[in-house]
Amino acid sequence: MRIVTAFGAVRGSLVATAKRHSRVIGSTVAVSTVAPEIVLTFDDGPAPPVTEQLSAVLAGAGATATFFVLMTRVPAHVPVLQELVTQGHEVALHGVDHRRITGRPYRELTEEFRRSKGDLEDITGVAVRWFRPPYGAQGPRAWLAARRSGLEPVMWNRSTRDSAHVDDAERFRAATAGARAGDILLAHDGFASLQDGVDDGPEPHLDRSDLLARVLGEYQSLGLAGRSMSDALLQGTPVRRAWFSAAL
Ligand SMILES: [Zn+2]
Repeated sequence: MRIVTAFGAVRGSLVATAKRHSRVIGSTVAVSTVAPEIVLTFDDGPAPPVTEQLSAVLAGAGATATFFVLMTRVPAHVPVLQELVTQGHEVALHGVDHRRITGRPYRELTEEFRRSKGDLEDITGVAVRWFRPPYGAQGPRAWLAARRSGLEPVMWNRSTRDSAHVDDAERFRAATAGARAGDILLAHDGFASLQDGVDDGPEPHLDRSDLLARVLGEYQSLGLAGRSMSDALLQGTPVRRAWFSAAL
């Protein structure tokens, strides 16, 4: 009996340690909130004219979003980023390009993150808080480099599956089924390609504006408003967990 109790105590303390650890080394995967809000994120842009079209859909729904941008695309579209911020959206860092960063040296990543964060802040005039690694793939080095650069890794817990070759019904289902306040939705305004250092095959055919409009309509019927990360955190707190890729 004492053994069982002791084991239970050890296991309990391990769980508590893991939870503490997760808070310290974790990446944000959701928001704990009492507000009926869902976080909207768009990766792989800026990608005119889709970025502006999505911004118009967001405006129509009274929603804000966070755009994780690729530095390969930023110089050609500075006014697009500035307009996003003017519209109440948030600009965050997705990478200097779209190549995987797992396995990259810490020092190199830190330099890239700091330079990119500074460049985006010069363009937008607003502090850049969030980072999302390409493919959501990060090891402890990349995680640490982001944190040391003043960035917090933000992942997701639901997706529109808009970079996959699936049918529209599946995209809508993935984005909306069981949607809850504090979820973080992954969507894309662009599609990473050779200009971003990767070849991920042909871009799926879809009307991103139409998909977003229907998803936001469904959220509205569930009583959920779309919000950027920073807007959602006005009333919520980050839910973090350790999120590391197998290839460190
Ligand atoms: Zn991406």
